[in-house]
Amino acid sequence: MPFPTSSAGNSRKIDGPLPPLRLLADFSFPRPPLSASIAAVKESAGHRTFQERVLQGTPVSPGIGIAPVHVVARGFSAPDVYEIDDVAAEKARFGEALERTKVQLRELQHRIEAISGEEDSRIFEAHLMMLEDRTIVDRVHATIEDRRQNAEYSLYAVAQNFLEAMRRVPDPYLRERTADIEDVCQRVLRNFSHEDHRFGGPDEQHILVAYDLSPSDTASMDRRHLRGFATEIGSVNSHTAILARSLGIPAIVGLDGAVLALRTLSPAIIDGYSGKLIIHPTAETLDRYRRIQEEKERVRHALEAQRYEESVTTDGRPITLSANIELSEEIAFVKNSGARGVGLYRTEFLLLRGEQMPDEEEQSAVYTRIAQALSPDPLIIRTLDSGGDKLPVEPLTEPEPNPFLGWRGIRVSLDRPDMFKEQLRAVLRASAHGRVAVMFPLVSGIREVRRAKELLKESMDELAKRNIPFDERIETGVMIELPSAAIIADLIAPEVDFFSIGTNDLIQYTVAADRVNHRVADLYRPTHPAVIRLIKRTIDAAIANGIWTGVCGEMAGDIRLTPLLLGLGVEELSVGPHQVPRVRRAIRTLSHAECAAMADEALRTPLSVDTLELTTSLARKYYPELLD
Ligand code: PEP
Ligand code: MG
Repeated sequence: MPFPTSSAGNSRKIDGPLPPLRLLADFSFPRPPLSASIAAVKESAGHRTFQERVLQGTPVSPGIGIAPVHVVARGFSAPDVYEIDDVAAEKARFGEALERTKVQLRELQHRIEAISGEEDSRIFEAHLMMLEDRTIVDRVHATIEDRRQNAEYSLYAVAQNFLEAMRRVPDPYLRERTADIEDVCQRVLRNFSHEDHRFGGPDEQHILVAYDLSPSDTASMDRRHLRGFATEIGSVNSHTAILARSLGIPAIVGLDGAVLALRTLSPAIIDGYSGKLIIHPTAETLDRYRRIQEEKERVRHALEAQRYEESVTTDGRPITLSANIELSEEIAFVKNSGARGVGLYRTEFLLLRGEQMPDEEEQSAVYTRIAQALSPDPLIIRTLDSGGDKLPVEPLTEPEPNPFLGWRGIRVSLDRPDMFKEQLRAVLRASAHGRVAVMFPLVSGIREVRRAKELLKESMDELAKRNIPFDERIETGVMIELPSAAIIADLIAPEVDFFSIGTNDLIQYTVAADRVNHRVADLYRPTHPAVIRLIKRTIDAAIANGIWTGVCGEMAGDIRLTPLLLGLGVEELSVGPHQVPRVRRAIRTLSHAECAAMADEALRTPLSVDTLELTTSLARKYYPELLD
């Protein structure tokens, strides 16, 4: 490792608190003043030639985006980036910033030494040594020459290379040292004089490239200029990917090494259908993608024009087609898609607003607004589903060894009855203003269902005492997303009004493959015979008890699987708002009888690939134009 590290208390921060180490760089920043820079890139394109480069990842949200990439790394915010002409002048600026930083560090060292002794002041020695390290200076110089980008951005890029590399080593001591490197780099960055080179100017379109994005990063991004995002890790069923699909943002995951390899401002195309990120596309590639983009737009408009058509099979079986939402602002998409209401509202996304669930008043205002906007179509509100890969509702005193098998879903709500009842009262209050149903996540057995219903009843009594109106017959459902729940679906069914199968979790728990771990992504198969049989078992139990079953996991939006789900007897599909038009079209071309015959065969088929082929062949037969 080229950076020397000191062993003496070098994780202590003396000159004011360190900016918080966030998972990713501050998202208020990923809007460098690209406009001027893009112009510079275009101008310079004449005398610099770049080879087209294709990076292959896993597509998680369809769509095409054409824009320069913007690479963000974890830790601290990137400085502005722009093209330069005068390499020597830029190196000199870097040298001056280094010198200024060294002077400041020496001063600090003396001050701290006077106050608290030599031992504490050693941290600055380590920092000074970093600044004197030839490796870093040489690399920054080489980067300025190579990329012809400003010195501060070159320093940032070099530092991020080191930081990413260090974060990936298993040694916790080395990983801890990243804070020192960040600290020193921030100092140097602050010591550049920006007056000549900073561009103000409007935000520009960009494709975001990051090591990882959390659902909250994704939700809080400024999407006006975002044309897509690509991450190094992540998976199709992570909440970040789900959110990208809901918001209609093209996205790719699994682009190994992208953060280190890519240069901010490089022109690029993101292909969310095939998982390609094309850097420096040739004119020919650009042309081809523009044509694909136009064609996809044409199909999208044609499908949207059919939004008021019923989702009914050719032999007359109606399927309720509803939408999944995470944020209330998605209601506009839901309306536009022609979905019949919301089949899954993931209320844990309310945690993005703060560290805790909003109080009863606030929640009730949000739920009421959505219920009114959807009325007379239904709104199914899922109670808080925190934990696992989702936002925690409260900080845990110690990390869980197995968060996916830990304190999540209904378990958290039942352990925090006051918080749970606050949410239930808010849901009930909204039920007076529209068609609202409530649904419990991650139920593993009857005891949880009964306890949740008891608390619902208590919440009703509390509202009644306050003379607040609500729907006394509010529909109550459970998510079937654990194998235990699917196996005893016949025992759960008499207790509830509906089932909604959460296939994302059902698959992960059935085949014991973490839905967000790309290493086991190949085991995570929606058409695994055990998964199909559990779905069938759930539906049969529901039918025997006179209740309905829907699917709200990502399987519901995969049109290759629509024939299989319809054939198994699903009555409702709840999908991302942007997927609604295609799923509707798929339903309208299929014959339920033919799907049922195929599903019978699938239930006897031992291999998931063969079942996938069975269902895809029906999809291909009826709607080849919709398949990507
Ligand atoms: C599921 O598990 O399928 C589901 C819909 O819930 P979530 O993806 O929010 O866990
Ligand atoms: Mg789930």
